[in-house]
Amino acid sequence: MGLLDKQFNSGGVMITKVDDFINWARLSSMWPMTFGLACCAIEFMTAGTPIYDLDRFGIVPFASPRRSDVMIVAGTVTFKMGDRLRRLYEQMPEPRYVISMGSCANCGGPYWEHGYHVVKGVDRIIPVDVYVPGCPPRPEALIGGFLKLQEKIRSESRMAPKALEKMMSEKA
Ligand code: SF4
Repeated sequence: MGLLDKQFNSGGVMITKVDDFINWARLSSMWPMTFGLACCAIEFMTAGTPIYDLDRFGIVPFASPRRSDVMIVAGTVTFKMGDRLRRLYEQMPEPRYVISMGSCANCGGPYWEHGYHVVKGVDRIIPVDVYVPGCPPRPEALIGGFLKLQEKIRSESRMAPKALEKMMSEKA
């Protein structure tokens, strides 16, 4: 069911579900955290240039985990960096999402066999919502990852009893 279930011509009244409205607002204003771990981050930066124009999807990077709701893990995750990464993730407010960008973040990439210092997949440290393959993935692929994330957000329910219970316990 779309955002607008019914539209009345007089007075511009719209009827929709609360979930659809909240999800529409959330998926239209995703704020990824600005940081990069290796070469994949160059493609992340390129996705923000006028040619690819991430802003048109409402995606605006922020330089603070406390104001971000999406983490893009772009690059090689070393064991040393893993702790910092988890700490950043824990500082993000709920609901929060993770996009694993590129082979290194997905599974260790070129270091999967002999890279003793590399985590073989960032999902061993934090939960991942979307995996973007490639070494490096092009900006179009990252945009495709955001579209997948939008699909996921669209199907969520913040009003379901379990979600409400979680929200109340977070506030307490
Ligand atoms: S996946 Fe490839 S391009 Fe991306 S950080 Fe690893 S080695 Fe670099």
